[in-house]
Amino acid sequence: MTLDVGRALKNPGQVYPFQASVTLPEMEVLSDPVRFEDIRAEGEFFCTGDHRVSLRAQVGATAHSRCCRCLEPVQVPVEARVDAIFAKEPDPDDPDLYTFEGNAVELEEPVKDALLLELPLQFFCKPDCKGLCPVCGVNLNQETCSCQEGNVVTGPFSALKDYVLNNEEV
Ligand SMILES: [Zn+2]
Ligand SMILES: [Zn+2]
Repeated sequence: MTLDVGRALKNPGQVYPFQASVTLPEMEVLSDPVRFEDIRAEGEFFCTGDHRVSLRAQVGATAHSRCCRCLEPVQVPVEARVDAIFAKEPDPDDPDLYTFEGNAVELEEPVKDALLLELPLQFFCKPDCKGLCPVCGVNLNQETCSCQEGNVVTGPFSALKDYVLNNEEV
């Protein structure tokens, strides 16, 4: 989403409200796929006089990822705050600065940065998710298995585990 800030550049100090919907490509966060949908931004911007644009916005979105235990799809609502400064030239002293060209301020980068900050470190489909059986791989929320009964570990992966352990000893 591109904001036309031409009016603001001509009228420093004048505050302009805006509403926008933003789309972001799917990304990987801590090796999990994350997709933000229904991203809405609402806020205001103004030119600070030195040809920088100050922009503040409230951002809401739905984050889609997968449960860290059972790998089933999970979606969580995310609310974030954008407080960004845009300048024509990057400033080596200010790595948080965003750049813009002409009258066009692009919202994607600051919106993405703000949303990522608010993401949970791990997604859960439910707080007491039982996860996957480490031996046979069934989803223990939906099925039961007898792999862990009596702590006797059997199953297709146990032979592989022995193989790996033996090789580590060499
Ligand atoms: Zn789960
Ligand atoms: Zn099992």
